[in-house]
Parts: sequence; C-alpha cells; structure tokens
Amino acid sequence: MARKPTISPTKITTYLACPVKYKWTYVDPRGKWFMRAKSYYSFGSSLHSVLQRFHDEGDKGVQTKEQALAKLAENWVTAGYATPEEAAEALAEGRELIAGYVDAQAERPPGIQTIFLEKQLRDDLGEFVLIGRVDRVDELEDGSLEIIDYKSGRDATEPDELRDDIAMNCYQLLVRSKMPGKRVLSTVIALRTQSSTTVEPSEEEVEQFKQDLLALAGEILSRDYENLVPTVKEICPECDFLPLCRRNEEFAEEYEPREG
Ligand code: SF4
Repeated sequence: MARKPTISPTKITTYLACPVKYKWTYVDPRGKWFMRAKSYYSFGSSLHSVLQRFHDEGDKGVQTKEQALAKLAENWVTAGYATPEEAAEALAEGRELIAGYVDAQAERPPGIQTIFLEKQLRDDLGEFVLIGRVDRVDELEDGSLEIIDYKSGRDATEPDELRDDIAMNCYQLLVRSKMPGKRVLSTVIALRTQSSTTVEPSEEEVEQFKQDLLALAGEILSRDYENLVPTVKEICPECDFLPLCRRNEEFAEEYEPREG
C-alpha cells in the first residue's frame, strides 16, 4: 500500500509563500540542485542543539553556562555563511544568546517536567499525515502542557501573531492528539531578548485551524504542479529557484525590469 503523503508546517509555509517554490522543494527533484544552505538555518540549528542538551535531564554534560557555551562552539554549523568572519560574528552573537538563556533559566519555577525535546510528532488526519518537530513540551505542576518554540531571530512575538502561527497551531493539534484532555499552552521564547509570549487557544480555535488545515492540505496535495506557471513575487530575488523560474519566458520578461 502506498504511504500517505505528509504535511508539515514547513511545507505549508513554503506553499503559501509560493506554490512554485513548493514544487521545486518537494515535488520536482530538479529543484534540489538549486537549493543552497542558509546561514539563518545554521544559526538556529546550532542554538537548538545546545538548548536540547541543556534541558535533557539525562544529559549531565550540559548543565552550566560554561558547558553550554563549550557545546555551542563544538556544534557550531558554518554552512551558509559567506565568509569565516561572518560565521565568527554569528558565533559571538550565539554565545550571548545562550548565556542570556541559561541565566534566565535560574528564574524557572520548580515542578516543571520536560516531556518532549526536539521531538517529531505525527497524527494521521485521513488523506495525509501531519508531522511537526516540537522544540520542547513541558508538563506544568497543575498537569497542563506547554509547547515551547525558540525563535533565534526575533526580539518578541505578539499574542495575536502567536495565535495565528501555522507551526504552533500544528503543534497544538499534534500534542492534543498525543495527550488528549489536557490544557495546552503555546509559548514562544525570543532568544535575543529572553522575552516569552504565551497564549492558550480555545478548543474552538484549534478545531477551526484543523478545518482550515484540511482544506489547505487538500489543495496542496492535489495541485497540478507540472503545469504551474511562476509569477513574479517580492521574494523572487532571494529565492534559490530563480534560475529555474527564469526559464519561463513570461516570467523572465516580467522579472527583467526589476533588475539593475
Ligand atoms: S523565483 Fe519566485 S516564482 Fe519562482 S519559485 Fe521562487 S518565489 Fe516562486
């Protein structure tokens, strides 16, 4: 039996940014030759791996600020940086963020258990399987669950923005299906400032998101990607697939005047 297709927050945001970009990323294998490493992904993944080890109670090697900073240097990913100097500058910033994070954890209330760390969750939603990797899920003293998402490139997140966040809404669905009947909070920690924002979506909000997701996933999975025609967007100049889209005559004509 054929495996069910998967839908993830990254797939959804890629599709919403540009369906042609989705095609080159996930459908047409020719796209992979054009994909370049991104420094912001490297930066985020370097920080995430240290925070994962810091919160892993079974890992006694990363408990202090000094140990966390040593792990950052050890796990530093340099892919996507233009020069060694740029990577070194980013590492210095990463050190500040990690040091600030570890200091802020001294204020963490007692009685909190971390139950998932960098864990991929799955839920079969019929036509597709929803997947998503949560940074962390804590169980609070009163039994509520808190999904925690680290943002390494942000100073703060507004509550409304968090309520509308596609990834966090997917995590809400995934955590609720895995551990039903619990209160589930959504929290974003902005690592640049250590500011955190928490919201508690209602059952109705989560159900509405699920219905919207089912409709959007249906569109994503049934789209005729072979005959999709690229149209110029604001994000095109930064897109890895620009050389592929410029092979389309109409796109090339429309795009040229924006150059120079
Ligand atoms: S270059 Fe523009 S149209 Fe082509 S995939 Fe990228 S964003 Fe989409």
